[in-house]
Amino acid sequence: MSGELLIVTALRSEYAALRGQVGSATVTRCGMGPARVQNWLPQLARFAPGAVAVAGVGGGLDPKVRAGDVVVASEVRDAEGRRVLRGAGPLVAELRRLGLQVHHGPVVSTDHIVTSAAEREKLAATGALAVDMESAAVVRALGSDAAPPTAVVRVIVDTAYTPIARLATLRAGAKALQVLRRVGPALPHWAGLAGPRQVLLASPRSFCAGVERAIEIVELALQRYPRPVYVRRQIVHNAHVVADLQRQGAVFVDELDEVPDGTTVVFSAHGVAPAVRLEAQRRGLNIIDATCPLVTKVHSEAKRFVGRGDTVFLVGHAGHDETEGTLGEEPGRIQLVQNPGEAEAVVVADPDHVAYVLQTTLAIDDAQDTIDVLRRRFPAIEMSPTDDICYATTNRQRAVGAIARDADVMIVLGSSNSSNSLRLVEVAERLGTPAHLVDDATGVLPEWIAGARSIAVTAGASAPPRLVDEFVATLRALGPVDVAERVVATETLTFTLPRGVVG
Ligand code: SF4
Repeated sequence: MSGELLIVTALRSEYAALRGQVGSATVTRCGMGPARVQNWLPQLARFAPGAVAVAGVGGGLDPKVRAGDVVVASEVRDAEGRRVLRGAGPLVAELRRLGLQVHHGPVVSTDHIVTSAAEREKLAATGALAVDMESAAVVRALGSDAAPPTAVVRVIVDTAYTPIARLATLRAGAKALQVLRRVGPALPHWAGLAGPRQVLLASPRSFCAGVERAIEIVELALQRYPRPVYVRRQIVHNAHVVADLQRQGAVFVDELDEVPDGTTVVFSAHGVAPAVRLEAQRRGLNIIDATCPLVTKVHSEAKRFVGRGDTVFLVGHAGHDETEGTLGEEPGRIQLVQNPGEAEAVVVADPDHVAYVLQTTLAIDDAQDTIDVLRRRFPAIEMSPTDDICYATTNRQRAVGAIARDADVMIVLGSSNSSNSLRLVEVAERLGTPAHLVDDATGVLPEWIAGARSIAVTAGASAPPRLVDEFVATLRALGPVDVAERVVATETLTFTLPRGVVG
């Protein structure tokens, strides 16, 4: 066998569960436990696999891991060290699509079956999600430099709630083997990603000045004020940023009525309506405002137009935190217009006194279509003297435009509620390149990048830069990667921090 997927199992039952589910891949048995693996290793030399998956059942360590769940290893550890496995993200995505409950994290290998609650807790405290007896030895034997793409998959039998050597374990074992059968077909799909490719990085990408400022504000507030520090709405629209700040102690709420009197509340980068600010003041809350100064500028423009008697159109998307805040500046005097159709339909009392402002994160081309309709219908319409669509949105869309046509597919790192990230997908698609928005590498389905020689990568303004690095590392773990970056602008803008966290 050469260049194909090799699936390594320990038990006869695992072998039987996977054979017949994995196409032309080779399934082999290494025996149970590290000592048997050592005896088996000479056989590994006769395989020259293109990819390796160590697959079977295992024990759950983390309390959130339940019987029948799947753990895909982000790394394997044993007494001799650890090996990081970066290439498994698309396998996680594929297994989740199959409807399986999948966790991605460390797997630890021991030389014995873990039966005591005390040992399980001790191993869980290291951050490991699952335990087995073979994967670390197999992965180490593959070497580190020229190792083929490698994945470790464990379907959980025993857990902290259903320890081994009980009747329930037998039932859990049977259930785990059923799940392992379902895992089987995903393994060759994942292994099919092995091979060389080019990565085109868009630049600028990832964090903008407003997002960096907002995150720093929360971190400083956590250092400066008694815990908990509350944040109204997501500080920026990114699941990883929110989770990181939650780990640091921030408590995210939807509305002020969830914030206890006498505590600190941070307003998100998207801004708030004056009514929210007034309510927080009335309650005597310690307010820290992380509204991006470029959003504040749009609020000011809208107020200025209303103040001189204009009807103001806000071109933007309904339900977004930013548009809610801007509309709340002058309720009833600012009308939301989402698209050219709505621009054709709007009715105003005095067509000679109208103005428009824009949500900061719109797609430039889409917004222009809507603005063109407004200008045609209301020739006297006025706008801000400076662009409302912010520099970061504009630069990231231009950067996508510069590389999308040269790529087979575009991957946008960002969360599904991130307006500017969604717009990056739309820009690429408008240029004819299929594009996908994912929170991280574990959201990338194998079929999106299978056969793609060139993959364009960017990240929304709210997505941490490390997500791009991790995705590129995932691709590197699947084969040689040639990375090229195209820079369309250099960003140097920074914003000062608000009172309350400095001074
Ligand atoms: Fe501010 Fe633009 Fe970043 Fe939004 S995307 S936080 S408006 S700089």
